[in-house]
Amino acid sequence: MSGRLAVIGLGPGDPALLTPQAAASLAAATEVFGYGRYLARIPPRAGQRRHPSDNREEDARARAALALAETGAAVAIVSGGDAGVFGMAAAVFEAIEFGPPAWHALEVEVIPGISALLAVAARLGAPLGHDFCAISLSDNLKPWTTVTRRLIAAAGAGFVIALYNPASRARPWQLGAALALLRACLPGTTPVVFATAVTRPDERIALATLATADAALADMRTLVLIGSEATRRIERPAGTPWLYTPRHAP
Ligand code: SAH
Repeated sequence: MSGRLAVIGLGPGDPALLTPQAAASLAAATEVFGYGRYLARIPPRAGQRRHPSDNREEDARARAALALAETGAAVAIVSGGDAGVFGMAAAVFEAIEFGPPAWHALEVEVIPGISALLAVAARLGAPLGHDFCAISLSDNLKPWTTVTRRLIAAAGAGFVIALYNPASRARPWQLGAALALLRACLPGTTPVVFATAVTRPDERIALATLATADAALADMRTLVLIGSEATRRIERPAGTPWLYTPRHAP
């Protein structure tokens, strides 16, 4: 009996940003694994079982989903945004690499989703119009010295930087420390955006500069975008200014 595991990105929140392929793959699953808050976004379906778990239990969740797929079930495992961007896809492949040989024969399909940085960029204009990078500010899975080394290198190389996982109750000081580091290598006028719960009913977007940026504006639903020296701001008579990074870099 050959089971199947679909690893599905749900997008940033708005159901309209769930791709038709992700919706079809979800509909075909009889067992759905994921962080409880993500599972709550999926409309219930008769005959489909939910397996919610805490957001710190990713490795155990990946192994449980694979074990059920091995029995022949149609299993899905979901992530917010894109599952391959700081999401469940890497946890699944790590579990496969170090798991029982039978897992190597499973049919695994990764369904792409719209990652938070794409949804945030679309709200602002075109801040990712030139070279950019994404860094997770979480030091749960890597040492803080790795985060600081990468931040300094990315800022020095002129990348626009998307900071995922900027803050949580368990990680209250990291974003303030990161902003202090960046102030030492980028101009104070560099645009900084705090984009929270983008495309969800509680969406909130705050534009600042590196000089004025207040880390308290971020929580675990926030993506922080740091412009490069090339990023430009277009003022508007009303509403949020647009940000864009020209395709022709200096
Ligand atoms: N796989 C996800 C990222 C998971 S890490 C993706 O591709 O988007 C969780 C982090 O993603 C959050 O701390 C936040 O930084 C960011 N994030 C996820 N959804 C978001 C949203 N709707 N608005 C702003 N940031 C979001």
